[in-house]
Amino acid sequence: MRVAIVGAGIGGLATALALAGRGHEITVYERRTGFGELGAGIQLSPNATHVLAGFGLGPALARMATEPERVRIRSLRSGREIGEVALGAAARERFGAPFLAVARAHLHTALLDAVRGRPEIRLRVGRSLVRIDEREAEADLAFETESGGRESATADLAVGADGLWSRARSAIGDERQPRHAGFAAYRASVPTAELPDSFRAAEVGLWLGPARHLVHYPVAGGRSLNVVALAPRADPLEGWSREETPDHVLQLFAGRGPTEVLKAARAWSAWSLYELPTRRIAGARVALVGDAAHPVLPYLAQGGSLAVEDAAHLAALLAGSRPDVPAALLRYGRERLDRVRRIQAAAQRNGRAYHAGWPTSLARDLVMRRLGPAGMLARYGWVYGWRLPPA
Ligand SMILES: Cc1cc2nc3c(=O)[nH]c(=O)nc-3n(C[C@H](O)[C@H](O)[C@H](O)COP(=O)(O)OP(=O)(O)OC[C@H]3O[C@@H](n4cnc5c(N)ncnc54)[C@H](O)[C@@H]3O)c2cc1C
Repeated sequence: MRVAIVGAGIGGLATALALAGRGHEITVYERRTGFGELGAGIQLSPNATHVLAGFGLGPALARMATEPERVRIRSLRSGREIGEVALGAAARERFGAPFLAVARAHLHTALLDAVRGRPEIRLRVGRSLVRIDEREAEADLAFETESGGRESATADLAVGADGLWSRARSAIGDERQPRHAGFAAYRASVPTAELPDSFRAAEVGLWLGPARHLVHYPVAGGRSLNVVALAPRADPLEGWSREETPDHVLQLFAGRGPTEVLKAARAWSAWSLYELPTRRIAGARVALVGDAAHPVLPYLAQGGSLAVEDAAHLAALLAGSRPDVPAALLRYGRERLDRVRRIQAAAQRNGRAYHAGWPTSLARDLVMRRLGPAGMLARYGWVYGWRLPPA
């Protein structure tokens, strides 16, 4: 089978690896020519790490990732501890795979190395998808090259892994554009050597306040602290990400939260957050994975992990060397839809709870305290405990 995958992000590379080794000819087309990953870190939950281990990436992840022992939840206003989610051994024992935090560049390099080690996968960079035409027996793809030339390809299966602003999405009849969610994420990376020792601890720090929150966790063997601050922003930022001044982010948090971290961060990039409730994720010859299929607000840290799930699920339905593609995509569309919608809705709900003002925040804090670390982990059981449905 000829497979054309558009996009070499987490979703596209994971899909190529999941489909490899079955006699298919797989080509990954990527718009970019270099892979300096934007955004410093990513949390990978057990629903994704068990799939990545299946690709043979377990040892690489063990070398490069941190395994947080917990999420420590605090109040932005008072610094008081609100609650904790048990991770580390508790997550590994419960879900059979670790919860990890990793530098995006390291994860991407590991995926790229694995892809480059498979002779059946070709990577064509500097190819920007213009359109996909889905026909009964195959899909036609048209690309623009870096030099402004045109290139085309025909595949038995086309996979749109081209992210939030997917062009592939229109090939399955969805012409909608993502809607600005009214928030921006400000991301920075701070050398832990410049911070108090407590920021080197293997844990995720989550600080909650009215209409904003902040997350940090160590990556790169504890040498660097990945920081993500989320706050309202009425105007959508143009492009994918933009630099923001340290003063602007400091003002947003007005001396609250982990001020040592906010003061030490010298370069921030800002990303607007977008939403698009999923309606369909597959046609007869075109399937979407990752953000192309289901943009997820980052309040549940699931967008990347869901992309890895998509890859595994799609590949499982396309078993055999000559799979019935339309039948497999029909099942993929049906079987993924409930889960990705449920995750999108849960991420929205988490955002509302994280950003609650008084007195709703009192009830939220009480629930978190009552549940305790193990109870908080159990609440995410349906997210982290995902496994491929039986064939
Ligand atoms: C602030 C923030 C924090 C987050 N934290 C987490 C987290 O902790 N855990 C988690 O799991 N998720 C997290 N996410 C979500 C996660 O980053 C995304 O869901 C994930 O990166 C999506 O991967 P993807 O491969 O689908 O898309 P992308 O990473 O966007 O990759 C798409 C690829 O397609 C290429 N492309 C685009 N258009 C074309 C075209 N026309 N032709 C060819 N190529 C094209 C792009 O260049 C890119 O390489 C976070 C997101 C944000 C904004």
